[in-house]
This record gives sequence, structure tokens and C-alpha cells, in this order.
Amino acid sequence: MTLMVLRLGHRVGRDARITTHVGLIARALGADGVVMSGQRDERILEALRKVTETWGGPFDVSYEADWLSFLRKAKEEGKMIVHLTAYGLPIDDVIASIRSCARDLIVVVGAEKVPGIVYRLADWNVAISSQPHSECGSLAIFLDRLFEGKELSKDFRDAKLRIIPMKRGKKVVRLKGLEPRKDLSKDTT
Ligand code: SAM
Repeated sequence: MTLMVLRLGHRVGRDARITTHVGLIARALGADGVVMSGQRDERILEALRKVTETWGGPFDVSYEADWLSFLRKAKEEGKMIVHLTAYGLPIDDVIASIRSCARDLIVVVGAEKVPGIVYRLADWNVAISSQPHSECGSLAIFLDRLFEGKELSKDFRDAKLRIIPMKRGKKVVRLKGLEPRKDLSKDTT
């Protein structure tokens, strides 16, 4: 099963930070890639590719101007569409069937008002509580419930840097090329 996140309706400037975070969350929490739509924003695409180059992948980053054709084609190919929206069915009621469908998934998150066609094309409109909040919060919880926490120990390939977990301080090692990075760990007590 592959899982791609489709970010709809990006607005340059206004959504820069949130859209970047959608991509970072998608990568860190187990998605195979992110497809950006709305206004094209090369800086965000580049920043996400750079993160993948540094911290590992695979993680695909692309832009799709015609998100509707993208979704229709995905359906024709047998992929299933999950749309995260406060107006959908509670995640607890649908996550088991999404997990067991064993098909490739497109997970759609909005920015501005999401067009009605997305609600109709979606195989599941999923609410992470029936309260409005954020695409970052809903995506993170959705991925964690789908992968049941296993995404937190996912292996990333071809990383240049890796964080070594520490009780206190920071330790980052360089995996390729040069000598180990300066050990930044320090006791903060
Ligand atoms: N006002 C917009 C609308 O009516 O469609 C929603 C804007 S909201 C800030 C941006 C995105 O966050 C939504 O499109 C949806 O993907 C996600 N989102 C916000 N609250 C959610 C919730 N409770 N459950 C699932 N997704 C949510």
C-alpha cells in the first residue's frame, strides 16, 4: 500500500508555513509523498526535497495544477481517496475499513474552502473530531491511527544525518562522507 498526501488550495505567502508543515508531517509520519496544489510555490517544494535529501526517504514531492484530474485518474487506477474534514465521519468509525482495504491511498487536506466535488469523490470523508482545527493536526492524527504508531520507528534510507535520541541535549551524526558531526549533547541540569 502506498499513501500520498494531496494538499489542496495552497496560497503563496499566507499558507507557506502550514503547507511546509503538511509536507514535513507527511514525510515524518509514514506517507510516501506529498502532492502540492493551488498556487505553485517552488520554495516549498525545494525545502521538502532538501529535508528528504538530508534526513532520508524515499519521499516524493511534486506539484499538480489540475488536482481534479489527478484525483479522477487516481480513482480510475483503483486508488482510494480519504478526505480529512471536520464534516466527515468520526475516525474511530472508519479507520479499520480504511486500514483493511489494502489499496493505495490518497489523503486530501484543504487550506481554504474545499470544493464539494472532493466530498463526493472521496471514498471516506473522515473527521478528526467534529470541531474545526487544522490540516496539520488532522493529518498527524490520521497517519498515526492508520499506522498504529509503527510510523514512529520507520527507517529512512540514504539519510546524511541522523538524530541519536538522548535523555538531554542534542546529538546528530553524519552518516555519509565526512567525519562525525560535532557532538552537541550537553547536560542541561
Ligand atoms: N474552512 C475550510 C472548509 O470549510 O473546508 C476548512 C479550513 S481548515 C483550516 C483546513 C483543513 O484542515 C481542512 O480542509 C481539513 O482538511 C483539515 N481539518 C480541519 N479540521 C478538521 C477536522 N476536525 N477533521 C479533519 N480534518 C480537519
